[in-house]
Amino acid sequence: MNKYQMLMGGAWVDPAGGAWFESVNPFTAQPWALVPRGTKEDVDRAVGAAKTAFYDGDWRKLTATARGALLRKLGDLIAADADRLATIETTDNGKLFAEMRAQLNYIPQWFYYFGGLADKIEGRVIPIDKPGVFNFTREEPLGVIAAITPWNSPLLLAAWKLAPALAAGNTVVWKPSEYSSVSALEFGALFEKAGFPKGVVNIITGYGNEVGEPLVTHRDVAKVAFTGGDRTGEQVYQMAARGIKPVTLELGGKSANIVFDDADLDSAVKGVVSGIFAATGQTCIAGSRALLHRPIHDEFVERLLALAKTARMGNPLELSTQVGPVTTRPQYEKILDYIRIAKTEGAECRLGGGPAERPECGSGWFVEPTVFTGVAPRMRIANEEVFGPVLSIIPFEDEDEAVGVANSTVYGLAAGVWTTSIRRALMMSERLEAGTVWVNTYRAVSYMSPFGGYKRSGIGRESGSEAIREYLQTKSVWIDISGNSPNPFVLR
Ligand code: NAD
Repeated sequence: MNKYQMLMGGAWVDPAGGAWFESVNPFTAQPWALVPRGTKEDVDRAVGAAKTAFYDGDWRKLTATARGALLRKLGDLIAADADRLATIETTDNGKLFAEMRAQLNYIPQWFYYFGGLADKIEGRVIPIDKPGVFNFTREEPLGVIAAITPWNSPLLLAAWKLAPALAAGNTVVWKPSEYSSVSALEFGALFEKAGFPKGVVNIITGYGNEVGEPLVTHRDVAKVAFTGGDRTGEQVYQMAARGIKPVTLELGGKSANIVFDDADLDSAVKGVVSGIFAATGQTCIAGSRALLHRPIHDEFVERLLALAKTARMGNPLELSTQVGPVTTRPQYEKILDYIRIAKTEGAECRLGGGPAERPECGSGWFVEPTVFTGVAPRMRIANEEVFGPVLSIIPFEDEDEAVGVANSTVYGLAAGVWTTSIRRALMMSERLEAGTVWVNTYRAVSYMSPFGGYKRSGIGRESGSEAIREYLQTKSVWIDISGNSPNPFVLR
């Protein structure tokens, strides 16, 4: 097993406590790498290195154009290393190689896009209402950014934070999930290769309470950019509040995929299947509720079951596999618990409903693609994020009811609408409380388009030109050019 080190101030170092933990391959359920178990002492070292790089190092002296060039170089290096990094991600988190490779091939775009934005961060000259005074604004970096990421798309979600944070001139301490740290540590080598000054990006691994908390609360961390579950997000928000630190929170969802009777049903069936069974349902944007218009409900369910039954499970490294294992044992147990809860609440299980014990699943943590009909909006299965391949089907009578049910959860990350009516498409996209609305498609994301949650799904936006604002602060500069001495006892 490879034994890894952490990246701090440009050096690869052992954890201060001298402890490592095993990273387990979800397909074999066997450990395959040793990850450093960081502690508060390591957090102090990593933040110290990032602080030094921010205030004293070569980073601040670079022009914005040179910063952008470094980001673009990094993008090229990722593209050249995509297959290797994707294989590592699949071995670490069990998600399909086909999906991770597509993500890795796309990640460079975040570095190209934000690399391009680096030298387009401009202030304003304000035609101020006071004669003899010149007023302008500067957009400045915040300082040391703590980036905390989950296990489901480790490098993609890190790129969403690192690319704008670095483009804006900040330095970063990145803590990946304890379940998927290996790709982060391998990725770390590329920063040095690209020519980033030492300490601009630091990577520290370990558990949420041992590394995440001291990182969020560290007095030299200026901002926290977090992706993860909403309960953890709530804790992170509370801890950051004590230090009056801004946060970006990208949290969970219970997204509705809404199918109207005028939809192209072939596309809609594929869209609903993709929304919940792709990535084994382990995505924040999973369309875990299918809201079906009553006139097409029965036919749609039959077609959905027919397609879902064909999903090929197995080794996530094989390109023919469509549904892989669940990433962690606790997550596997949580999904099975939710299936039991749904059955107890009276939902009707029409497909799956338990662990997958097919020979091709080996000893991995597999759950059968599961479909419940007869789900009532009040049931837990219709409200809580399962983060697994479990779909809840809820019928609706009309548009108002569809909107009401879709908006009835505490979340607001995404929604899908399937219709051929332009009126419905526009009306629904206005009335749905979600940061992303897809019409006649699902799971589309881009570096160009802002992404984030309404309500309990989060705060702030990643991707798109909006994202860079999350890593900047505005300074207003006043210069007296009148040559007069004003009355010192009144507001100028
Ligand atoms: P998680 O909340 O358990 O962990 C996320 C990260 O937070 C990990 O690195 C973890 O070590 C760290 N952490 C845990 N406790 C902490 C603490 N007290 N202080 C600081 N850091 C702490 O989430 P997960 O299980 O890794 O990921 C799944 C969740 O992430 C799901 O809820 C999913 O919806 C969400 N998610 C959201 C998005 C989005 O963009 N909105 C994207 C992907 C995943």
